[in-house]
Amino acid sequence: MTRPKIIRCVNSKPEVTYFKPQGIPLSSLCEINLTIDELETIRLKNYEGLEQTECAKKMKISQSTFQRILISANKKIADALVNGKAIKIEGGVIKINKEKMRKFKCERCKCKWEIPFGTGKKGTEMSCPKCKERSVHRIDANKQ
Ligand SMILES: [Zn+2]
Repeated sequence: MTRPKIIRCVNSKPEVTYFKPQGIPLSSLCEINLTIDELETIRLKNYEGLEQTECAKKMKISQSTFQRILISANKKIADALVNGKAIKIEGGVIKINKEKMRKFKCERCKCKWEIPFGTGKKGTEMSCPKCKERSVHRIDANKQ
């Protein structure tokens, strides 16, 4: 009985993917697998302190799904802390949802700034946020 899993969007892959309790030999160490989407629920709700509706929106899943993943994540982390287990972060049905940014530079005051794709004015219509100069250049490498 397996339901097809809905893809969960996460902001980025974690840089640290393994936590190990000190002083426990590997042979007697239990390991917990925290999935990347579970970590993302912890990051959004517990670390960034966002409302659950906001979190679910960011991951493009329903609130009830979000809640379910969050509970599972909390349980695993609690288990690791209470029982001294290692945590391995990998897996999960995920899609990296890194917001693409457009980068600009002002020729007059040399300041640089970036805005997400699909927002703001076109590069040619833009003026510098600092000095209001119109000689603004797009400087990101992949102009899409
Ligand atoms: Zn400027």
